[in-house]
Amino acid sequence: LNLQNARFIASYGTVDGLPAPTTPEVAFVGRSNVGKSSLLNKLLGRKALAKVSSQPGKTANVNFFEADGISFVDLPGYGYARVSMAERQRWANLISGYFAQERSFNLVIALVDVRLEAQKLDQDMLAFLRENNLPFVVALTKADKLSRPKQTRQVELLSRQLEVLREQMLLTSAQTGLGIDELRRRIEKACD
Ligand code: GDP
Repeated sequence: LNLQNARFIASYGTVDGLPAPTTPEVAFVGRSNVGKSSLLNKLLGRKALAKVSSQPGKTANVNFFEADGISFVDLPGYGYARVSMAERQRWANLISGYFAQERSFNLVIALVDVRLEAQKLDQDMLAFLRENNLPFVVALTKADKLSRPKQTRQVELLSRQLEVLREQMLLTSAQTGLGIDELRRRIEKACD
């Protein structure tokens, strides 16, 4: 699997015009500021394919990328408080509207900050993925910010709180590249 020649397809403000699902598809979800853009850029070997913002909540659209015959779908980061109710509702509609479509959901990568306790919105997202039998893996982000023993403790805690098996969680870091190869392998397997 060579994801290094990724290209940006388009950005969508509603789910109506999304491209037809003619390829395997991998979707990325997570709370705003979790490190989604950074991980996508690392995975796709680009510096700024997905916009990394110091200001959270910027990814208010559904963004499509393509690499090696796979579509990568960057869904809006949820839970950003500093926008209007209407705007938050629009983001929620984008996410639920995407999952309500008839698409090839090969893998959903659910990003969770490794440093925190499970947040309500993360638990809701994981429950949704489980209930709908969507294949997913949890990417625990920013692992470089914790010592090894703390990483281990957090993995155990989050596994319990999110009700996700240890095998379905990966420690990742967009900074050091930790977990990126493994993530690529999981994607390859899911898109076979
Ligand atoms: P998004 O809102 O989920 O797309 O998050 P971003 O990718 O924009 O990242 C949010 C903030 O976290 C930025 O300041 C990033 O530099 C930082 N960040 C993201 N990934 C990592 C990581 O793996 N390690 C560290 N130390 N910081 C990260």
